[in-house]
Amino acid sequence: EREEPNYYGAGPALLPTDVLQQAALDLINYQNLGLGVGEISHRSKQAVSIVDETKVNLTRLLAIPDTHEVFFMQGGGTSGFSSSAANLMAAYAKRTGKKGKAAYAVTGTWSKKAYEEALRLGFEAEAVVDVKKQNGKFGDIPPTSEWKPVNSDYAYLYYCDNETVNGIEFQQVPEAYAAGVEIVADMSSNFLSRKIDVSQYGLILAGAQKNVGLAGLSIYIIKKNLLEQAGDEELKQLGVPLSPIAFHYPTVVQNNSAYNTIPIFTLHIINLVLKKLLAQGGLAVQEATNGRKAAALYSVLDSYPQLFKLPVATGVRSKMNIVFTIEGEGNEDEFLKLSGARGLTGLKGHRSVGGMRASLYNAVTEKSVQSLVDFTKEFAESRK
Ligand code: PMP
Repeated sequence: EREEPNYYGAGPALLPTDVLQQAALDLINYQNLGLGVGEISHRSKQAVSIVDETKVNLTRLLAIPDTHEVFFMQGGGTSGFSSSAANLMAAYAKRTGKKGKAAYAVTGTWSKKAYEEALRLGFEAEAVVDVKKQNGKFGDIPPTSEWKPVNSDYAYLYYCDNETVNGIEFQQVPEAYAAGVEIVADMSSNFLSRKIDVSQYGLILAGAQKNVGLAGLSIYIIKKNLLEQAGDEELKQLGVPLSPIAFHYPTVVQNNSAYNTIPIFTLHIINLVLKKLLAQGGLAVQEATNGRKAAALYSVLDSYPQLFKLPVATGVRSKMNIVFTIEGEGNEDEFLKLSGARGLTGLKGHRSVGGMRASLYNAVTEKSVQSLVDFTKEFAESRK
């Protein structure tokens, strides 16, 4: 039992109370087994059916075509972007017999980390756009006509669809730019927030702990032909770094996401969230609701331009993570203090950028957003 929280944390984030209530019961006694869902073997019939059902529900929600495969692994967004390089390169090596290059669109904190990780692991990675280098700060996405062009020497283009720290969201897939090159998208913080066309992507990856579940699991949707990868010996000869076995996508898929122990309780929660989303009408409904939520908050922030500063260009504003700063000595502390006193929490910006951040993931209701909008308006009026 709890009162409905007004919580806008960036992740781990809010989950629906009824999902948590069901999960709490299942943690103790799952389907009358006399054992909790976290205690059963990951190879038991019940665990396998959780894996299978979650795949089916995700496939329905996202209308995933037959060309693509869903799988789950331990870890989060970081294990996702770390592991994507070796796997995409091994697929490229299989296809071309060559060592490929990787293109990274560096548009915020998380894509920058992914780019640096690919370099660190020894891949030939290149930033085809680096917004901070170019403009001194993250806050916009330059048109792809200004990015360094890619060609068939590149195995993939990596981008972060929603930059959680910076509040920047791509409004379209850079598909034309990346023609002939596989697209890898980190959707950790906007996964299932709206409809997408899965066929446009080589790989979608997402950590679970924002829109879909608890920390500990990451979700992958991959084009099946990218599971055809060069063998270890061939990769060694080409000088392509190997993937650790637990993150070797073909191995994980061959074992139905249970090559090693999958955190089945965490996956069960994801499945409960997916069922709820389906019952609520699917992603078209989420998209419309999330659009209204973000518009309501941006609108009040835009109404007081002397007080609230929004660092992100209007065209690339995130619907999930709304970042802003507050002018005037002490006003940010005051905003946090007064909102906190009203039970509105999780609004402090990421430590690296400061300011405020309101994360309006799927589980944050319109009612809760309205409470935040009302407070923000009152606060602004009181500073006039
Ligand atoms: N990518 C994005 C877009 C994120 O928001 C985060 C986490 N905030 C990560 C990657 C890293 O995720 P994790 O902490 O699960 O490794």
